Amino acid sequence: MSISEKIMADAEENLLHAYNRFPVVFESGEGVTLRDADGRTYLDFGAGIAVNALGYAHPAYTQALKEQAGKLLHISNLYYTKPLAEAAAAITEKSGLSRVFFTNSGAEAIEGAIKAAKKYAYRRDGRSGHEIIAMEHSFHGRTVGAVSVTGNAHYREPFEPLMGGVRFAKFNDLASVEAQVTDNTCAIILETVQGEGGIYPADPEFLSGVRRLCDEKDILLILDEIQCGMGRTGDWFAWQGYGVKPDIMTCAKALGCGVPVGAFVLGEKAGENSIEPGDHGSTYGGNPFACAAVSAVFQIFEEEDIIGHVRELTPYLEEKLDALCEKEDLLTGRRGRGFMQGLVVREDVPAGKIASAALEEGLVVLTAGGNVIRLVPPLVITKDDIDTMCRILGKVIEEVR
Ligand SMILES: *Cc1c(COP(=O)(O)O)cnc(C)c1O
Repeated sequence: MSISEKIMADAEENLLHAYNRFPVVFESGEGVTLRDADGRTYLDFGAGIAVNALGYAHPAYTQALKEQAGKLLHISNLYYTKPLAEAAAAITEKSGLSRVFFTNSGAEAIEGAIKAAKKYAYRRDGRSGHEIIAMEHSFHGRTVGAVSVTGNAHYREPFEPLMGGVRFAKFNDLASVEAQVTDNTCAIILETVQGEGGIYPADPEFLSGVRRLCDEKDILLILDEIQCGMGRTGDWFAWQGYGVKPDIMTCAKALGCGVPVGAFVLGEKAGENSIEPGDHGSTYGGNPFACAAVSAVFQIFEEEDIIGHVRELTPYLEEKLDALCEKEDLLTGRRGRGFMQGLVVREDVPAGKIASAALEEGLVVLTAGGNVIRLVPPLVITKDDIDTMCRILGKVIEEVR
């Protein structure tokens, strides 16, 4: 038995079977390279599901965490800390939104956004009973509230009845959204670029249409930027590339680049007219360690011009992926923005089979709904990494076809 096999056997014996894991034990990483327990290395185009935007063992990031760990890991929201103040300021500065609430995960950020929207409508109308419009094929997380606005029957059905008052509309179909609006609608929630659902970017006309609809009816627009935010599409937040500003945005994943942290962030209107002291809270949310990570991430993004790098390399990545699609008849198309790309795989071959074969060849890629190979690499990849990824993927596709 190899070291990895022993660890996998132990894990399978004791963990709840909630995941089908790939048969690999990762132990460390450096840059965009992961190393497993038996010393094999892998080029990473998954980034721990769009989390590790700075790659692995980034020196300045690691140093910032070490420093904070030696000072204060946790206190509570009964008190102020400098990391908390700094992290919130970084988010409001880059987003132009005005009020931050820190959470520990993406799903919790969604929960908070839902509560804020409900409270906004409650104060507006002097009553409860409000509804939310969400999108088909969306993904917003696994807690009960987040699953309630997730447009995927498979994730929802066993857990019904879920939170009531959710109506689903078709993504990128404004008329279908309009058809779901009632006097009770408090919010419309959508991912600026759908991730798990299969990498579907919002159409610009759709997004601006939804914004207009929200303005007309005093409905809050919640944009879920958990996967597509933090530089991934070549802007701090994907909506900035559309020129459409949300009333509430949710962040997580790359916000902490590995330290579990999320946030829901409110614009002025929602910020001043929803959550009040006593309405919401979290023991860990916004603790100094998580916030030191957030601050370090923003600082390093700035110092290393990570967003400029994404913008610069996106045409190269897209060109290479388009060439791969052209060459391999197993790939029927590409969708995405920036470093969030999906390759659509022909129906008769599961994308998961390609991901497994790629792993054996030392390349980490993810899948997404609709039989898609999902590429969400660390934002620090180089042209060489893109070349290597395309070479391995091409080889693997030839083998599995
Ligand atoms: C991952 C994800 C979530 C859920 O985040 P967790 O941290 O897993 O709870 C929500 N929305 C989107 C768009 C995501 O990609």
